[in-house]
Amino acid sequence: MDLVHSSPEITLWSRRERCEGHTIALVPTMGALHDGHMVLVREAARRADRVVVSIFVNPTQFGPGEDFGAYPRDLERDLGVLRQAGGVHAVFVPDVQDVYPSAGNRTWVNVDDMDRWLCGQSRKGHFKGVTTVVARLFARVLPDVAVFGMKDAQQFFVLKRMTRDMGFPVELIGVPTVRAEDGLAMSSRNAYLSEAERADAPRIYRAVAAARQAIMGGERDVDTIEQVMRHELGEARVDYVTIVETEGLVRVPTLRPGMQALAAVAVWYGRARLIDNVVVDVS
Ligand code: AMP
Repeated sequence: MDLVHSSPEITLWSRRERCEGHTIALVPTMGALHDGHMVLVREAARRADRVVVSIFVNPTQFGPGEDFGAYPRDLERDLGVLRQAGGVHAVFVPDVQDVYPSAGNRTWVNVDDMDRWLCGQSRKGHFKGVTTVVARLFARVLPDVAVFGMKDAQQFFVLKRMTRDMGFPVELIGVPTVRAEDGLAMSSRNAYLSEAERADAPRIYRAVAAARQAIMGGERDVDTIEQVMRHELGEARVDYVTIVETEGLVRVPTLRPGMQALAAVAVWYGRARLIDNVVVDVS
């Protein structure tokens, strides 16, 4: 497993692998690796000959007052986890100067309008930071395949659109959310939870599971399905409870056959903002 710190080095690494006939899969992460990340790594290994994991806490996707400074960082631990799991050929760990080289930042990649709802509404500018960093990672790592988690479904659909619009020759793979036994989606931010908060948090999963059940049971009125989700969330401090269609990520009042619905929630527990979702094909 090669540890690569600079952009020229990872591009060289990638070109060399390509010359030898190998395909390359990239798994972008912000570190604090957990079992969810490792499922992405295994999927990457199935999809390509070489797996690159990037670890980069991207400043441009954090808003003022968000947890950029507090975000858990432990490179040695993460490298240990990756070494033990195996199947990773390179770990790309650039510093901020490397990914954002100029003084100030002039070049952004933005997908219009797909950030009007869900996390885009409460985290202004977040997706612009995500699309910009992923475009920069694509340009440096030159992957054939990039693997993302459906836990961040809005991120996945925005990145899919960016990849299509920009013509990046990269196939995007979305991996189903990896959960603890009680349903809570694994997340680096679960580390912020107290014992009592951790015990309460599976209600987030119950809320999105209830939405799926309601849609599969024939409910088509979005207000009603959102009420069902709110009911499951009880007294929790809700950021949003929203259903959108997945093409444009826009809320529609009524679900129609052929649509794909994304039912998503974000809930605050102390300083942890946790998200979850389900994607349901509407028949
Ligand atoms: P992060 O390090 O939080 O930026 O996440 C890196 C990648 O791992 C993103 O594509 C996430 O969607 C994905 N991911 C995080 N948690 C999970 C999970 N519980 N299940 C599946 N993928 C996940």
